Amino acid sequence: MKQILNLIIFLMFLTCKAQGIKVKADHSKPKLVVGIVVDQMRYDYLTRFESKFSTDGFMRLIKDGFNCKNHHFNYVPTYTGPGHASIFTGTSPMNHGIISNYWYDKFTNETVYCASDTSVVAVGVATEKERMSPRRLKTTTVADQLRLHTQNRSKVIGISLKDRGAILPAGHTANAAYWFRGKDDGKFITSTYYSNELPKWVNDFNVNTLSYLKIWNTVLPINEYSESGNDNTVFEEPFIGKALATFPYDLKELSTKNGGYDILKATPYGNEMTTDFAISAIKNEQLGTRDVTDFLTLSYSSTDYVGHQFGVNSVEVEDTYLRLDKDLEKLFQYLDKQVGEGKYTVFLTADHGAVNVPSYLKSQHIPAGYFNKKEFAASVNKVLIEKFKFKGLVKNISNNQIFLDRALIQRNGLNLSEIQEYLTQEIVLYTHIDKAYSAKTLTTTQFTSGVGALVQNGFHQKHSGDVVFVLEPAVISYPEKGSTHGSSFSYDTHVPLLFYGTGIKKGASLTKTEVIDIAPTISALLGISFPNGCTGKPLEMVLNE
Ligand code: ZN
Ligand code: ZN
Repeated sequence: MKQILNLIIFLMFLTCKAQGIKVKADHSKPKLVVGIVVDQMRYDYLTRFESKFSTDGFMRLIKDGFNCKNHHFNYVPTYTGPGHASIFTGTSPMNHGIISNYWYDKFTNETVYCASDTSVVAVGVATEKERMSPRRLKTTTVADQLRLHTQNRSKVIGISLKDRGAILPAGHTANAAYWFRGKDDGKFITSTYYSNELPKWVNDFNVNTLSYLKIWNTVLPINEYSESGNDNTVFEEPFIGKALATFPYDLKELSTKNGGYDILKATPYGNEMTTDFAISAIKNEQLGTRDVTDFLTLSYSSTDYVGHQFGVNSVEVEDTYLRLDKDLEKLFQYLDKQVGEGKYTVFLTADHGAVNVPSYLKSQHIPAGYFNKKEFAASVNKVLIEKFKFKGLVKNISNNQIFLDRALIQRNGLNLSEIQEYLTQEIVLYTHIDKAYSAKTLTTTQFTSGVGALVQNGFHQKHSGDVVFVLEPAVISYPEKGSTHGSSFSYDTHVPLLFYGTGIKKGASLTKTEVIDIAPTISALLGISFPNGCTGKPLEMVLNE
């Protein structure tokens, strides 16, 4: 009897083998997911610089992966903190609570930072600053869900020059997050939230950061940068100690007057150093070499600093992207070698776009301008005093939100909704303000499309202000040199979204996708729960099967 049973099992095995049925390992899941965020990358940088990119950097993801060409943020304000939080939590600030980089906290009457946490201290540098953790993030990230799913056997590491770019994506349960401390230190550091000491490989890496303070010249002959404006324009902010924003830049020499190692952040070498650090992390933490999926979150910050200083149309921005393209090529080649080609999944996106320098747009006859916050605050106070005969009704104006003194209003028997509505009507008359919404409207009306929906998705009932206003297109509160971001307009919301590798189809689509769809897509690929506040949907079109 036993012999017959064994024979049946043997015959079944042969049949399975003959039909190509997998009897054992599941190869559909990646060994490693690398979630790349390029800070301040507009969608059109992919197309503007395409002819200059190599075939193995950005173009490898486009050619062999899936290109979501109509990908947008679904909220305002489009800043770094909310951007990174939304990509990895699959929801918007209304739920994850990271409503800006800095915001006025109604409960403590002070401005708070999205990654600050006084209950922890920095590890790797002696400073009272740099006290960071993900504690203000109210929901889980896709990496958190992976850790829960695998009983913490998956390794999760976050890396960026910016603390918020490293900490928020990696989530609450990460093994580590590393960011760069510039000034006189020039080191990647972490927080006691994760560990009480830096691993040896991080200390070893930190010994050589001086080598990134190079002479920055263009990677191609400068007359070939036909995708950008002139090297010298009035729309760029030069480094301190160099009169013009022109190549070459001697970073070692300029560093003394530009924040020491912080100057690296506003050059492509900040990204190069980030790449080398990520490669060191993959190697030394042996990411992608075990029986469970690991997750590396990697945010490139230099693109943002360069954009802020030199503007969207500058040669400096183009050169930074051409060099990032080479960094990506190097990273992918290392992943091929270490993890194995076809055994990892990459997605690449941005935390927001950027507006072309408004003073440049004005020179091209495009409506644009600058909004003076101080003058606006004085005007708001004036109209409130005239109408309600009370001083000090406004506690704070920040992130295009007006916070009223609710205690004062209550003590004096004033009507909060009436003041909100009055302000909403008055401030839309103000120069460069396009729209305004009261907190009451945002909590009692459901906006399903348009700017109202973006304002609502960025509005947190507990933490946001009493009135939210929207500036006109290409109007910013910023100096007249350099670019910034934060609005609901397409130059800030439209960013790249590329998927590549294990479980990903080849293709491209113009179907609109939103930031909140990224995390559930990766969750679906990995077969794990969605992040707990997720409001997006998996993008079926990019996934195999
Ligand atoms: Zn950013
Ligand atoms: Zn920025």
